[in-house]
Amino acid sequence: MASKRILIVEDEKAVRDMIAFGLRRAGFDVHEAEDCRTARACMVDARPDLMLIDWMLPDMSGLELTRSLKRSKDTEEIPVIMLTARAAEADKVNGLEGGADDYITKPFSPRELLARIQAVLRRAQPAGADGVLEAEGLSLNDTSHRVSSGDSEISLGPTEYRLLHFFMSHPERVFSRGQLLDRVWGGNTEVEERTVDVHIRRLRKALEPFDLERLVQTVRGAGYRFSTRLA
Ligand code: CA
Repeated sequence: MASKRILIVEDEKAVRDMIAFGLRRAGFDVHEAEDCRTARACMVDARPDLMLIDWMLPDMSGLELTRSLKRSKDTEEIPVIMLTARAAEADKVNGLEGGADDYITKPFSPRELLARIQAVLRRAQPAGADGVLEAEGLSLNDTSHRVSSGDSEISLGPTEYRLLHFFMSHPERVFSRGQLLDRVWGGNTEVEERTVDVHIRRLRKALEPFDLERLVQTVRGAGYRFSTRLA
């Protein structure tokens, strides 16, 4: 298997070198960018399997870059770990709301970073080559846009389809309403958070005849999760 490609976006050369050195030694194919513009250029040349993005960058904040990546269909599936010197809880929430998959506060040890990277890469589960996502007999075919349970077709509205597709591509992870708006609705600020609840209800109703509504779980005080385990 080819080694995973990691793109580091960090303007401080000393930090970048330190991270790159550790990751190369761990067998990753490491690419480096000192600002967002360079990062974009690198991504055109070769799509990274994961990105490490510093919060403070010279041309655009790392948070803005992450948001824009997560809003584009071409790049939304690339896992992002944000690096920051700021340990404030509000920043962490902002980072995760912006679509980052994880967050690590400087200074961190190379070992700690490596563990985070491996965890995030394990979690990233794109659809199979045939575009089919499956869980507990529920099957979503992104090529034909059909959702089925066994031989029965499940009819979904376009938003419920996108919501289910997003959930099935990111199983066992909790998403806040804000994150779902960003990732499924494309960050349209006109849409209110309770809209998410409305579509979750519709999705569950569509899944109910097949006893699959239990896969779409409410996580109290946090949001929603797609899981094959009991809530
Ligand atoms: Ca920086």
